[in-house]
Amino acid sequence: MSTAKLSINLDALATNWRNLDALSAGETAAVVKANGYGLDTGRVGQALAKAGARNFFVAVAEEGVALRRALGPDLGISVFSGHMEGDARLLQEFNLTPMLNSVDQMLRHFETLPGHSFGVQLDSGMNRLGMEPAEWAALREIALGQGPVLVMSHLACADDPTHPMNALQLKVFRDMTEGVEVPRSLSATGGILLGPDYHFDLCRPGIGLYGGRPYRDALPVVTLDLPVIQIRDVLPGESVGYGNGWIARRPSRIATVAAGYADGLIRAMGAGINAYAGENACPVVGRVSMDLITIDVTELTEDPEWLSLITPHQTIDHLADAAGTIGYEILTSLGHRFARSYTG
Ligand SMILES: *Cc1c(COP(=O)(O)O)cnc(C)c1O
Repeated sequence: MSTAKLSINLDALATNWRNLDALSAGETAAVVKANGYGLDTGRVGQALAKAGARNFFVAVAEEGVALRRALGPDLGISVFSGHMEGDARLLQEFNLTPMLNSVDQMLRHFETLPGHSFGVQLDSGMNRLGMEPAEWAALREIALGQGPVLVMSHLACADDPTHPMNALQLKVFRDMTEGVEVPRSLSATGGILLGPDYHFDLCRPGIGLYGGRPYRDALPVVTLDLPVIQIRDVLPGESVGYGNGWIARRPSRIATVAAGYADGLIRAMGAGINAYAGENACPVVGRVSMDLITIDVTELTEDPEWLSLITPHQTIDHLADAAGTIGYEILTSLGHRFARSYTG
């Protein structure tokens, strides 16, 4: 077998949801955009529904369709990008709730789908998506008159609890929603960890469910095992890989495994990470290439048949640190050549 194995532990996912739910003051929803952070919207959605999640968020209407097919008719599915031109049929047919984020979207929604559920997305300072304070002040009464199911905003810096932006956005969100008798939502994973002031009626964790920072207590959800295709001896002074990126200083044994940057194991992570034979860390040496990675297994007493790149010893966040990115990007980049298996 020359295909790398990506294992997704749905029990760990469910436990992460339950633990975040226990931390949240109100309801805990689940964010499953980008195909469930790359792990399969349907599988992830079903596992979270079984754990107790009643409301789900996706980025765009098409993702909501896939999720609706997996979840059946009863659970709530909301769409962060709101009601885009041409979305009406999908929103209606699959009972999706758009989070309206502009005057244009609001007019479009009331015109094309009168009476259809919607929420409102407010911009409390991130300047990415949602109605700004002045816009909202002008529209607020009209919008509230149509009965939104949720009023939400999003924090820009919640992964850093010391950042003054958190309190600033909290204040702006409070000011914008004062007297609004509609459930309110401000926090994703980071906001849950900031404490109950940030929770309001509903929290929307994503990355913490999948085992990523800033939820440091998360159980790891994915493991990635790579098959060893070949092992060779390298003499001191010989080089390994493109650009002669690594030069042996001692007699070395080098294992070549079947995965590379085409599988989302981005080249920038390069040296500085390990592959694991059980508990034993073996350094990645030379450059990550498209389909192959080379690993120094000199210290092992036996030649390995498999080496693990994502394990509890080396999580998506460790890989992200080595590549100068974030766990979210590692997760959502994991490739489609992997043989995926789900436990739990
Ligand atoms: C992605 C996203 C979330 C989930 O964020 P995490 O950091 O993954 O928990 C919540 N709300 C909005 C608006 C988002 O875009």
